[in-house]
Amino acid sequence: MSGRQSRFETGDDVVVMKFGGTSVENAAAVRRLIGIVRSRAGVQPVVVVSALRGVTDQLLEAGNAAARGHLGEALAGVRKVYVRHEQLADSLVEGSANGALDRELRSEFQALEALLHTLEASRHLDSKSQDGLLGFGECFSSRLVKEALSEAGIKAAHVDARSCIVTDAHHGQARPVWDVTEERLQQFLRPLLASGLVPVLGGFIASTADGVPTTLGRGGSDFSAAIVGAALGAARIEIWTDVDGVMTTDPKLCSEARVIRKMSFDEAAELAQFGAKVLHPATLGPAMRENIPVYVLNSRRPEGAGTEITTRARSGKLVSAITAKRDVVAVEIEPAQALDSELLRAAYAVFDRHSCPVDIMETSLGRMSFLVGSTAALPGIAADLRVLAEVRCENHKALVCLVGENIRRQPDVASRAFAAVADLDVRVICQGASDRTISFLVEESKVEESVQRLHGVFFPLPEPVRDWGGSSSAFCQAG
Ligand code: ADP
Ligand code: ASP
Ligand code: MG
Repeated sequence: MSGRQSRFETGDDVVVMKFGGTSVENAAAVRRLIGIVRSRAGVQPVVVVSALRGVTDQLLEAGNAAARGHLGEALAGVRKVYVRHEQLADSLVEGSANGALDRELRSEFQALEALLHTLEASRHLDSKSQDGLLGFGECFSSRLVKEALSEAGIKAAHVDARSCIVTDAHHGQARPVWDVTEERLQQFLRPLLASGLVPVLGGFIASTADGVPTTLGRGGSDFSAAIVGAALGAARIEIWTDVDGVMTTDPKLCSEARVIRKMSFDEAAELAQFGAKVLHPATLGPAMRENIPVYVLNSRRPEGAGTEITTRARSGKLVSAITAKRDVVAVEIEPAQALDSELLRAAYAVFDRHSCPVDIMETSLGRMSFLVGSTAALPGIAADLRVLAEVRCENHKALVCLVGENIRRQPDVASRAFAAVADLDVRVICQGASDRTISFLVEESKVEESVQRLHGVFFPLPEPVRDWGGSSSAFCQAG
């Protein structure tokens, strides 16, 4: 990035605050968001919002129904989404502002209905029209949140992220064209900030240079916040979510998960890459490049310290966290002749051609295994690979991963981990990942058990501290 100014003329620091789906899911959540933005005296907030919780999935369902020819079902689905927004608008915004918001939401809704009619006629939902469809969630939520902030007396301005974040045409997983994006974000946001307004943008959405809507991939609002933060030289990027920070593992998998107070960009990026949904994997890139600290915070408990992610911070643990990535397919290929780099290159080219990123690759006993996320392109990939070798696909796998600085150089980590899960029919996979991970392939049904056992080994609960009265308490924070 070039020519970036790190501070605005007013001298205030820009803080990009991203609120995820649960942090805008209903009136109580939006009121908490307003309280959090209001508490930021002396800084210049930029707010990035996700769609209301569940909306992106509902839009996807409606699109699939329309493409199958079930237009009635599709329209009924999006009407529910619209009514939810209308009701939320009614409980947050009054008077003429409510009327204006109502008109905006209705016009978005009509465009959404028109798109479903087109999908029904074409009987096809490709990644390009899917991007157009899914983006409606953030279009609705960002307009609503802007108006709710204004109603609460916080001067705000809606900014269409599709006019500022310019990407390639890789629909479903578009990547920003940095120079144009940076220029546009500065051009759109700087005057608003200079006049004391809080810009509100929808996360996840962007467009190509020709104005065709794109998205940054599921969970991509975190990445949007990082893009905006990097372009503006923000002082910090805050990811407001429904957990107390980045934790030693997904608390939904293991109730003993603890908050990691500090970690490095590298550690966090690795965690996100290997399935910790709390951060979109691309988020740390722009922040790291511009050296902007990222904080992960709980919008339901804004007073908590959360997790601080910076260049120098370290979790201080050998194993900083355990992640799990579900829905993994192991594609095994066994060539008739010996394995060589030529064959490896050809195999990678097949995955590339089908735009299917390979998570990990291992070679053993004349066999290559590629781990990929489950994808509709799999039959095509297998057919192309069969030209090269015998192919076998194993579904319903999951990748459980231990993450930590230099963890691979500590021989006892792998052996302790393996001892904990050996009876669960696991395979240890090490190749293809960095020095910071040790990965296991397990049956999807064994994910919880594997994670809980590994967590017990690497994050044992401290001995209860007995006080004189005989009661006990447990210290509950990691790092
Ligand atoms: P948002 O809607 O705010 O973007 P997400 O659902 O995308 O929230 O991410 C938050 C969720 O990530 C948490 O509810 C938690 O279940 C999950 N998660 C997975 N791994 C971790 C982890 N290591 N630390 C914290 N949360 C995690
Ligand atoms: N709404 C989008 C999704 O559900 C993006 C996001 O929430 O970050 O994937
Ligand atoms: Mg998310």
